[in-house]
Formats: sequence, structure tokens, C-alpha cells
Amino acid sequence: MNLSDKITTLKGVGPKYASYFAQNGIFTVSDLLYHLPRAYQNRGDVCRIIDTPFDFLPHSYILTIGSEPKVALIKRGMSLLKFKAFDDSGSVNITYFNQNYLKDVFTIGSTFRFYGKLSREKRTISMTSPTYEPVIPTKPLLSLVPVYPLFNGVNQKFISKLMSEITPNISEMVEEYLPEDVLDRMNLCSLPFALKNIHTPANENTLNAAIRRLSFDELFLFALSVSQIKSSASEYYAPSMDDTDVTDYINMLPYELTDAQSRAIGEILMDLSGSGEDYVKAMNRIVVGDVGSGKTICAAFAAYAACKNGYQCALMVPTEILANQHYVSLKDDFAKLGYSCEFLTGSTPAKEKKAILSRIKNGETDFIIGTHALIQDSVEFLNLGLVITDEQHRFGVRQRARLAEKSKNVHVLVMSATPIPRTLSLMIYGDLDVSLIDTMPPGRQRVDTFVVDENYRARLNGFIKKQVDEGHQVYIVCPAVEEKEEDILNFADYNPFVIEYENKKNDTSKVKSAVSYAKELKEEVFPTLNVEFIHGKMKGKEKDKIMSDFSEGKIDILVSTTVIEVGVNVPNATLMIVENAERFGLSQLHQLRGRVGRGKDKSYCVLVSSSSGEKSRQRLEIMRTVYDGYTIADPDLKMRGPGDFFSSDPSIRQSGDMGLDLAKSCSDTELLTSAFECARMVLSKDKYLESTGNALLKERLGEVISKNIKTVN
Ligand code: ADP
Ligand code: MG
Repeated sequence: MNLSDKITTLKGVGPKYASYFAQNGIFTVSDLLYHLPRAYQNRGDVCRIIDTPFDFLPHSYILTIGSEPKVALIKRGMSLLKFKAFDDSGSVNITYFNQNYLKDVFTIGSTFRFYGKLSREKRTISMTSPTYEPVIPTKPLLSLVPVYPLFNGVNQKFISKLMSEITPNISEMVEEYLPEDVLDRMNLCSLPFALKNIHTPANENTLNAAIRRLSFDELFLFALSVSQIKSSASEYYAPSMDDTDVTDYINMLPYELTDAQSRAIGEILMDLSGSGEDYVKAMNRIVVGDVGSGKTICAAFAAYAACKNGYQCALMVPTEILANQHYVSLKDDFAKLGYSCEFLTGSTPAKEKKAILSRIKNGETDFIIGTHALIQDSVEFLNLGLVITDEQHRFGVRQRARLAEKSKNVHVLVMSATPIPRTLSLMIYGDLDVSLIDTMPPGRQRVDTFVVDENYRARLNGFIKKQVDEGHQVYIVCPAVEEKEEDILNFADYNPFVIEYENKKNDTSKVKSAVSYAKELKEEVFPTLNVEFIHGKMKGKEKDKIMSDFSEGKIDILVSTTVIEVGVNVPNATLMIVENAERFGLSQLHQLRGRVGRGKDKSYCVLVSSSSGEKSRQRLEIMRTVYDGYTIADPDLKMRGPGDFFSSDPSIRQSGDMGLDLAKSCSDTELLTSAFECARMVLSKDKYLESTGNALLKERLGEVISKNIKTVN
């Protein structure tokens, strides 16, 4: 077996499965090997039947089959397999649905390890569809069993089976690619060891070592790619834009610019202009400001300056919703100022797209707003002078690389709302000039924030109704798009560095999914209100329709995933409810909260969480008491981990982010800092990774980046 082998060489993977895998960027044995577990079940602590705590959580049991499995047909097309199994403390009735073939598996006298929830009603003790593994003396069972992220068409059992085919070959296939000095400095375990233990952990310690090593790798590769892009960015010259008179635009505004905005705009205009020469050092600036601080208008002024000096400007944003919103809010201004504005995304129909592309090419379009569709090869500009990206950290590394490629010899302006802690922003944006928007437009109100649990559901629904009756609108954000086929407990707030085997008590609340929750609200709770849902997997057109209906007030309650997290502006929305709030990062919650309180009306944010974990409670408490994004950002980094700052919505992540899957949950800020330091160390000796010593590293970096390209296309 080789890492580059196609997964179809594995037993049981035919064309159908191969296509399911391909949809998720898994083509080779190596891709599958890097499909890492998202959690582990502790099946090592075997429970006796009689000792089972009343916690309604799954436990592990070693049981011997005591009666022959009986099959009963219960309904048309539905059958039931039933048998008894026992340990030295008692016996259980075990049931499986529609799995008659198990009759031949569970033979009397054979012993299995079962993992499931035991239920006790009256005198009967039973278990339904527990997972099972035969106990074979020569083959010890894992005590920490990995739980893999699933996707359409593939279940846990199947992935585990494939992994068990691959893992015995790891030591032969996998070669170390990290430079010796990095391994030494960080005191990391070897790559083969890490991969072996992430999939088949020998014990808690080896698993922790593996997680640390692989998290480091993700961060290190990320750091390398960012540093490489960055070091090429600041060497360019761009056209000077000497006409910096923007009073026309200032006079059009319905409000006065804040001092911070005026300052940022001034800094931008200084960067763009020269003193008579044709070219100046290209602007390379980031505007950082908390949610709602008014960054868009700064970008608009930059765009206006470019247009005024005869250059085109491209504004790129991470989601279609946001692109559309910017377009709607700016096109009229620009029309009045005498410039044409256009909108392009991945879902612009081909015919329309062709026309738009030709108008961009011949210079009819001055200002073009869109998603990453703007940096595709088919887009040719006549005289692009300025590229602006909004919420830049939400773009993948590959998109940023493309963008850097497209932005040679143009001015670059970046906007970021996520209050990235200063240390982190230095690492990511190191050589960008920073304009800080540190004051809010006047009249902003504080969004009162509450943390509640399920017991408040009825009151909460009453509150929703009240808001709508008063003519306002409501957002409800759920962590998932659709119900997963299984909902496994995650541990320790996604933090693999602290593996808490003790399952979190009471955290048995189901994860709310946008689609089904919207249905429930619409049909059962608020039949008279207009409830809709939106999520990242929907088509661009559908999303636009929902979003524009919402901003026009046609929708009362919008149930969504975090697609609405970035930048959406609907001032009439006054209530933000976040379900399963413990599953979100604090910065994310802060962004979500920033979607309300944008108009004159009092606004509220309600975080619903039934988690009783101490850590979750502390985190949510911060949201209740702290309203400034920067203050929130720091504890967040400590408590949740740096991954949170990169990207969280899988629908966005798939559009080409680096695989920061493990590191996402990494709470070790030092590891992140070290990863950047190591990247700097390696690149300072070998800027383009050309030495033979770095050949494998370069290869792996290429693999990671190209894998993302495959996922996108
Ligand atoms: P963000 O910084 O999050 O991108 P936006 O640019 O979307 O914020 O601005 C949020 C809202 O504030 C918009 O409705 C915008 O029109 C408004 N706004 C921006 N600047 C000012 C200002 N100086 N005075 C009053 N309202 C403003
Ligand atoms: Mg914005």
C-alpha cells in the first residue's frame, strides 16, 4: 500500500463510495489518513450492568450472549432482532432493528463489547442498537475509539473499517517531513507515531502527543503558506491616485463620519496618492474595527478614489449574501457619483456573467463587487487599480494566494471585523499597515445579552412573538444544517488537549438543526408568522432571495447557520437567538450578536445552552458581561483556541481553507505562536523551500494547498 494509492484500491470502495469520498476531497490513501477523528468514545472503562449510573449516557459493557437471537416482524418492512446478554451482575435485553443478519453474529456463549445507553423501565433492563465488537483474546480492543466526521453516503463503521486496513501500514508508508530542528525545538513525536495514535490511540498520553503533533503540523503549514504569500506582497508598486478630493461623497452621506472613520479614510487616501510620480509603493493596509463600527464606508471611499482617478476597483467578500448586501447598499451611491457598479458571484448565470466579464474587460464597469468568483482566471480587468477584501480571514489560503497573484501592482485594502487578538494579527498580517476604527457611530445601543437554558423555552417563544408583534424581526442561529445520523457527545468543549473521559452530564440536549427547527417553528410554534431558513449549502440564488426578503421585512423569523455571521445588515432585526450556544466560539457569538442593535430600537441577544459544563458556563458568562470585541477576543483565544479565528462555517471552509481541523480546537496559543516562529525560522534559511532537506516539507505543503483546490472545484 502507498499513500498515493487511490482509495478504490481499498476493500469495499467501489465507484459509488469513491464518488462520496471525492465530494469531500478524499481521493487517496493519504487523504483518508488525514481524515482525522473529531472525538473519541471512551469504551475502555467497562461498566457492570448493575453499576450503571442514572446518567442516560452511553457506557461500555462486556457481555456474553445468553439467548438465541429471535427475529420478529413488527411492521411492514420492519423487523426486530432480540436476545439476552449478561455479565456477572445481571442481564440485558438487546434489540436491533432491521439487521437480521446479526442472528449469525451473536451466537450463544460468545462475548462482545457493547457500547450504548442502558435503559431501565420497571424491572426490564434493555439496550437498543448498541455498537458491538467481538472480544478476541489475541486482539485487544481499543479503549479510546475514534469517532470520524461523517458525510453523505458514508457511516462510522465503514470509515473505521477502511482505517483498520490502512493503519497497520503507516510506519512503512509515512515519512517524516518536518525539519529536524523544528522537531527538536518543539519536542514533537514523529509523524508515523502521530498518525498511528490519532487513529488507534494506545492510551491517553500517546493520543495527546499525537494531537499536539498534528495540530502543530496544521498550524505550521498554515504559517508557512501565509508567510510565503506575505513576503511577496509588500514589494510592489501601484498607480498613484493623486485626485483625493472626496467631498462629493461626504456630502451625500446621511450621517457624519466618525473621527475614526475619517482617520482611516485619510490614511487610505495618503497611501493611494503620490506627489506627481506615476507609481507609488502599493497600499497594503488593513482596516480593523469591531462589528458595526462602519468599515464598509471606508472601503467605499477607497473605491471612489480609485474610480475618480480612472481605475477599476474590485471588492471581494466571502459570502454571496454579503456581496449582495454591499452591492445593494453601494450601487446607488456610485451611480450618483457617476460610476457604474456591478455584481458577480459563482452563481451569476453564465449568460449574464459573460456580459459582465466583457464590461469589466472593456472598462465600462468601474466598481465590481463579488465573491471569490472575482479572482477566477476568466476575469480580466482593463485597468484594475485597487483590490479590497472584506472579512479577509474568512477566505482560504489558496484564495488569498490567487488574490495576491491578481493584486500585483495594484493597491490592496483589507477589512476585518473579527477582533483578532493583537499577537495573532501581527502574525497573520505582519507587514500590513493598520487603520484601527476604535469608536462606534453615535447612538449605538448595547445589545442586552442573556444566557438561558431549555426551561426558558416557553418564555423565549413569547418574547419572539412580542418582538414580531412590535414589527421587528428575529434571527435564530443553529449550529447544524441538518440532523446528523448520529449525535455523539463531544468532550471538553472541543478541546482535545484536555480529554475529559467523564462524559458531560446533562449535556444530552440535541443539536438544533436549521432546517428541521425552522420546520418545527413554522408548523407548530408560530403558524401565523413567516419563518424561513437559510444555510451555506443552499444555492446562491436561493440565499439571495431569502436574504432580500428578510431585509425587506417579508420574513419574521430567520433560522440560519452561521452564514449570517459575517457582515449582514438588517437594522429592523432586534432579537438574536443562538441555539446550542456552547458550540460556538466567543468571537463568533460576538459577530452574531453584532447582527442586531443596528437600528434605533432596543435589541437583545439570547444564548440558549443546556450545557452544564463549567467551561461552557464561564465562556457564555463572558458574553453576558463583556460587550467589546477585543476584550472578548483574548479570553476566547485562551479558552477556545486559535482555530476559531480562522473559519468556522464548513460551507465557507470548504471553499478552500487550510485543513485546520484539529488546530481549530487547539487551545494552545503557544503552539500557534511557535508554529509561526518555526515557519519564520525555516523560511529565513530557505525562503522557497528549495533545499533537498526541505523537499518533503515542500511536497506536503503543496499537497495541502492543492487538496483545497480539489475540494473547491
Ligand atoms: P462593519 O464595520 O461591521 O462592516 P458597517 O460598515 O456595515 O459595519 O456599518 C454598520 C452600520 O452603521 C451601517 O448601517 C452603516 O450605514 C452605519 N454607519 C456607518 N458609519 C456611520 C456613522 N458614521 N454614523 C452613523 N451610522 C453609520
Ligand atoms: Mg462589514
